Amino acid sequence: MEYTSTRNKNIRVSAAQAIAQGISEDGGLFVPVSVPAVSMDEIIELSHADYITRAKKILSFYLTDFTDEELDYCVNGAYEASKFSSAKIAPLVEIEPNTHVLELWRGPTCAFKDMALQILPYLLTVAASKTAGGKEIVILVATSGDTGKAALEGFKDVKNTKVLVFYPEDGVSPMQKLQMMTQEGENVGVCAIKGNFDDAQSGVKKIFTDPAVREKLASHNMMFSSANSINWGRLVPQVVYYFSAYCDMISDGSIEPGKEINVVVPTGNFGNILAAYYAKKMGLPIKKLICASNANNVLTDFLTSGTYDRNRDFYMTASPSMDILISSNLERLLFDLTDFNDELVRGWMNALSRDGKYTVTDDVFAKIKSIFKAGFCDDDATKATIKSVFESDEYLCDTHTAVAVNVYKNYKDKTADETDTVIASTANPYKFSADVLEAVTGERSSGSEFSVVSELSVATSEPVPPQLANLSEKAVRFDGVCEKSQMIDEVYKMLGI
Ligand SMILES: *Cc1c(COP(=O)(O)O)cnc(C)c1O
Repeated sequence: MEYTSTRNKNIRVSAAQAIAQGISEDGGLFVPVSVPAVSMDEIIELSHADYITRAKKILSFYLTDFTDEELDYCVNGAYEASKFSSAKIAPLVEIEPNTHVLELWRGPTCAFKDMALQILPYLLTVAASKTAGGKEIVILVATSGDTGKAALEGFKDVKNTKVLVFYPEDGVSPMQKLQMMTQEGENVGVCAIKGNFDDAQSGVKKIFTDPAVREKLASHNMMFSSANSINWGRLVPQVVYYFSAYCDMISDGSIEPGKEINVVVPTGNFGNILAAYYAKKMGLPIKKLICASNANNVLTDFLTSGTYDRNRDFYMTASPSMDILISSNLERLLFDLTDFNDELVRGWMNALSRDGKYTVTDDVFAKIKSIFKAGFCDDDATKATIKSVFESDEYLCDTHTAVAVNVYKNYKDKTADETDTVIASTANPYKFSADVLEAVTGERSSGSEFSVVSELSVATSEPVPPQLANLSEKAVRFDGVCEKSQMIDEVYKMLGI
């Protein structure tokens, strides 16, 4: 399997090169040149297997330059049962007839980012050993809250790597901030920036593609890579859990093999839902992909009008990991839907950075409409959803998952579509305790973060993940803040070059 760039379709690299490099030098994203097909017989066979086996099978279609032993090393290390609070790794819970919640937050940092970031360090070190000639890999991360912590935890003390994280100073939850500020490990660095997630992401992308910076790192025998979902190595492990969910539905008798399902994804950077799109292209019977947004509803507007327009107010919401106006992975979808028309995609991306908007062609929009549905909800509706799901289904969900549940319920009311549906649940509720507590009790607590956690546990009897509870005893190691124009200086400082 070879990979090409969304901004230059003549480029050809191996999976290992795509993963080690993270982003193409032309600023484009790497995508596979073809999408492998998985048969229903293969899916049925996987329904008898565990998560590790399912992961190895799906990854083997894409990482064809990895040996069998290398793939084993990666999947066994990443999805070791002791690191997850469920032996199923990504368990499926039916909260109402035909409505299944896919819990993707059972890993070490309690967010779905662990599903990919537990395996990325393995993929990346194997990829680097094939392609990077012994260079030290510097992972640069822009985070809206969860990627940062998951990357720090995944790469902590991994040999020959360093990981540096930038997050928006006021754009993450108190628990997310604490998780990053108290990070342990000798090869890690964290810095807040004065700006929002889009500023952090643009800053990181700029550093990546600056030839002078690249040269300076090379002179210290270092190279950059990315742990954001612009890296194919982040995306491909996410394809696995959609297959895994379908397999579980076969094995628990919820569906007959071959039956279509809907998938609902609370979306920010368009990585998670793009993974579901690839699963569908590979042959997983998915009818509709439902894209759920919060008040930052740029994707709802795009998917329902064909015009992407980021010229709008930016809101800080109760679902901060989705507070994004520039969804990077959309570029991969557009490249695919235009049948690899790099010129068109380049034009749209240039228009996006120049004017903040672009409109896709009629035939691309027609394809979008046939595959995607989209909706959004504000914080009040998010909280009302948490309350009603908790009261009527006895299920406590976090603010991001609640956005997806809300959008799905509206979709179902409007369409009367009774198709079995998988809702991606992306975080444990205790990562956003204050808002979840307010949703459940109707009152905002004025207590400290950890007293809010206790109040939530008393109000709901849901277990507090020990890795969050234990943070109250950890020392703060990283409390630096920088201007967005100073990110590159921070990088040099953290690397000591
Ligand atoms: C990152 C994140 C999202 C958004 O996922 P994308 O792949 O960026 O669309 C949603 N919910 C939570 C909790 C997240 O951490």
